[in-house]
Amino acid sequence: MATFGTLSDRLTETFRNLRTKGKLTPADVDGTVREIRRALLDADVALTVVKEFTAKVRERALGDEVNRALNPAQQVVQIVNEELVAILGGQQRRLQFAKNPPTVIMLAGLQGSGKTTFAGKLAKQLEKDGHTPLLVACDLQRPNAVNQLQVVAQQAGAAIYAPEPGNGVGNPVQVARDGVEHARRHQHDIVIIDTAGRLGVDAELMKQAADIRTATNPDEVLFVIDAMIGQDAVNTAKAFQDGVDFTGVVLSKLDGDARGGAALSVASVTGRPIIFASTGEGLDDLEAFHPDRMASRILD
Ligand code: GDP
Repeated sequence: MATFGTLSDRLTETFRNLRTKGKLTPADVDGTVREIRRALLDADVALTVVKEFTAKVRERALGDEVNRALNPAQQVVQIVNEELVAILGGQQRRLQFAKNPPTVIMLAGLQGSGKTTFAGKLAKQLEKDGHTPLLVACDLQRPNAVNQLQVVAQQAGAAIYAPEPGNGVGNPVQVARDGVEHARRHQHDIVIIDTAGRLGVDAELMKQAADIRTATNPDEVLFVIDAMIGQDAVNTAKAFQDGVDFTGVVLSKLDGDARGGAALSVASVTGRPIIFASTGEGLDDLEAFHPDRMASRILD
């Protein structure tokens, strides 16, 4: 998964300096908090998140739990770890399935965020777990998108419901509705709806996605976001939250040169959990997201 190389190195260095101290003075704590703040900002973590995080760490580090600790520096590291887990969403959150199948999972996100690839990864993983997913191609915006999903479905060995070639100007909301109906008739227990990506946040396409949401009443709406997006992560995530009220986040391209900011900002700012981490172009490169493991990776 992500290396978070620089952030990790900077924090390690900060903690190494801290460990050379015995009892911690308020100045030691402030110095450490300042270093953490700088490291997080350089890793593209949103300012609001950084402020909230460092305020909490500072308050706890100056409090009794550190004063009383046998090893105060170690206690501060532990506090940072706990607060990192908290901003990454706390507990791991699994995919929610419908009581009465099919479970409907809708995907949304910017173009190029990794939606189609994730659709294939998820279908493949669900098949391995004994499910019979159906991919539904509702990205009728880009001429090649349906085709691309067909290729991914084939690689994943999953069924697909798509408009006929040449009918690409069809109505995506109707295709979504028909896709769910098709799943019901053909005993697919899960429907994965791929929606149109957009280059920037686009009101018309957001409305289309919202209409698909209303028409299909999904059990999960997953917002796929490229981990390398940096400072734009927060605004993009907020726009999608307003537009489609997603229930969970998929962090894609975590294998890349991500500085980690998106991962640390999105769950915190939207209050929605990160459910999956996508870590490569291959269809097997998908992991459940564990906030505690991610925090350990950052602090390793
Ligand atoms: P979409 O426009 O949101 O459907 O995005 P795609 O699924 O087409 O992905 C855009 C590009 O990113 C493609 O070249 C994918 O191969 C690549 N990609 C998708 N997910 C990952 C990932 O987790 N890691 C890496 N390295 N590349 C990815």
